[in-house]
Amino acid sequence: MSIKMMSRHIEPVLSDSQRIRLEIQEKLRNPDNPFNMKVCQFEAGTQNQPQRIPSNFDSRIVGCICQEESETISWMWLHKGKPRRCECGHWFILVEKA
Ligand SMILES: [Zn+2]
Repeated sequence: MSIKMMSRHIEPVLSDSQRIRLEIQEKLRNPDNPFNMKVCQFEAGTQNQPQRIPSNFDSRIVGCICQEESETISWMWLHKGKPRRCECGHWFILVEKA
């Protein structure tokens, strides 16, 4: 990666797969389904019934819009087999993509 490319984005360097970051960038570019960001509007999302997030990877980042009127997105890492609770109380779990 050239210095020129790195200077275009200010991001923390992630030790995990760059493919995941590419996946996020692709989803963000897709206006019809911006990174499954409607997750907080789903009915599921309790500890017993966490919101299922399909992924081809063992871990991925998921964004939760905790309040509809807010543009703030809570980003968190999901790891396979480990349900995770957003600070708004919404639960997520990583599932393998069918
Ligand atoms: Zn949330």
